[in-house]
Amino acid sequence: MAETSNFIKTIMENDLKAGRVSKIVTRFPPEPNAYLHIGHVRAIMTDFDLADFYGGTTNLRFDDTNPTKEGEEFVQGIQDDIAWLGYKPEHVCFGSDYFDETYKRCILLIKKGLAYVDDQSAEEISATRGTLTEGGKDSPWRNRTIEENLDLFTRMKNGEFKDGEKVLRAKIDMKSPNINMRDPVLYRILHVSHQHTKDKWCIYPMYDIAHPLQDSIEGVTHSLCTIEFENHRPLYDWCIRECEMPHVSHQIEFGKLSITHVIMSKRYFKLMIEKGVASGFDDPRLPTLRGLRRRGYTPEALKTFVADTGLSRINSETPYEKLDYFLMEDLKLKTNRYNAVIHPLKVVITNYPEGQIEYMDVPNNVENETLGSHKIPFGREVYIEKADFIETMPNRKWKRLAKDVEVRLMHAYFIKCNEVIKDKNGEIIELRCTYDPATKSGSGFEGRKPNGNIHFVEASTAISAEFRLFGPLLQDETPENKDLPFEEKLNPNSLIKVMGYVEPTLKDAPIESKYQFVRNGYYCVDTDSSPAKLVFNRICELKSSFKF
Ligand code: ATP
Ligand code: MG
Repeated sequence: MAETSNFIKTIMENDLKAGRVSKIVTRFPPEPNAYLHIGHVRAIMTDFDLADFYGGTTNLRFDDTNPTKEGEEFVQGIQDDIAWLGYKPEHVCFGSDYFDETYKRCILLIKKGLAYVDDQSAEEISATRGTLTEGGKDSPWRNRTIEENLDLFTRMKNGEFKDGEKVLRAKIDMKSPNINMRDPVLYRILHVSHQHTKDKWCIYPMYDIAHPLQDSIEGVTHSLCTIEFENHRPLYDWCIRECEMPHVSHQIEFGKLSITHVIMSKRYFKLMIEKGVASGFDDPRLPTLRGLRRRGYTPEALKTFVADTGLSRINSETPYEKLDYFLMEDLKLKTNRYNAVIHPLKVVITNYPEGQIEYMDVPNNVENETLGSHKIPFGREVYIEKADFIETMPNRKWKRLAKDVEVRLMHAYFIKCNEVIKDKNGEIIELRCTYDPATKSGSGFEGRKPNGNIHFVEASTAISAEFRLFGPLLQDETPENKDLPFEEKLNPNSLIKVMGYVEPTLKDAPIESKYQFVRNGYYCVDTDSSPAKLVFNRICELKSSFKF
């Protein structure tokens, strides 16, 4: 992201050149009420990469001005997620650290005649705010004296009033074309304990006053946020100016990242977890960083994906398949490629000696010799993928096994299927084949061509494993289901668990390690995995539907 030019870089560059700032300081301000999702990666990269590019710094600031529903679990989790992405904040700060300063600055506003205590209820305030085409109505309490306002605000702070009984409002312009400027609420009464400040406060500042002051106190030069805050910018500037903040921060907005078929909302994640649809914030089907990490997506893949979406002031939607493309780009040369059979079909090679096992040397990654090689066993009984066999060849395009047809078992021998064994329901349960010893892989045999190459896992040494195959949590939106509650849009196949086999090399595969399973896809060892039961998450299939 930092290499290519974008409009925020241009602004930063101009500010540095003109001497308006000497060092770039940014901040990433998550609310600690849930874990981060992939949309946040755009904000994180923009904040960290751009500051870093100009030798500046970035703070992580927990926007914890709202005392309800915020938790220590998320404070730690968000820091872990940012570290996993590869970023290190200059300082870790909390919005609540600045409550004293924010309070003092609001006293200053009152003294300047620019803030007043309003006795109207939240409903009354909202009803008199006006509309896009019509101005608002002045509150009957708008012209209280400075002394009265100072007294009432102090008493609000001292806990003399109940929740909702009074608020502090900025005195700006009830007729402003920008609704945010129509005497916005600056402070509200909430008799709740705060996770950091405990019971020190029973009044809490609103985002619109807290955020600019926090930015200014931390010396943030460029306060980058998403485009829905564009209409708040005049208020941001008003707060910094009228509170006479010594440092002037500037807000710059950029478009939100969204991805096809992906819902990025904390409320939705929580609902899915509450309803038991998702197993937790780290469910591999959720676009949370925890979920994506558990599924097997790498920080590099997420970052190249997000960088590729570019940065502009327009909200953009990106196809999900692109993420798989970047995952494959990242793992292609880094990961070992092993054999796994997800839907096994047993093959008995009737002319291969019983009890004999031979080991074939196989490169770990045919595209990257430096990864070395390993041995795979071959014996009389092997598993192949069900999908690699069909009883009768449909046409000449079928390049896999069929009755009376010969294929190469990759890195081993040609086998020919002579007999198909079925159960009483007609289901194919076993194939009887013969192999030709002359066709051993690497022997230079050129006598005839097999009808394709398929992979296998030797049965007696195979390790059984669970494979988790994922699809979207919700079905595609159609005009018919558009307005249905999400419960009725759930995709029943969003998680399919199947039992299959992997080659013995994978016996001790550690959690989070990633592999390509030959002719299938990229997989990651799940956190549920143990030596007693290996569990692999399919990150994505090899055939990417995305083309640049
Ligand atoms: P909520 O509105 O539920 O609090 P949020 O996603 O806005 O959710 P924050 O913790 O406030 O969560 O987000 C921190 C920062 O990340 C904000 O500056 C926000 O603008 C930015 N951000 C959030 N979602 C996206 C997105 N999809 N694309 C880019 N930036 C985002
Ligand atoms: Mg938010």
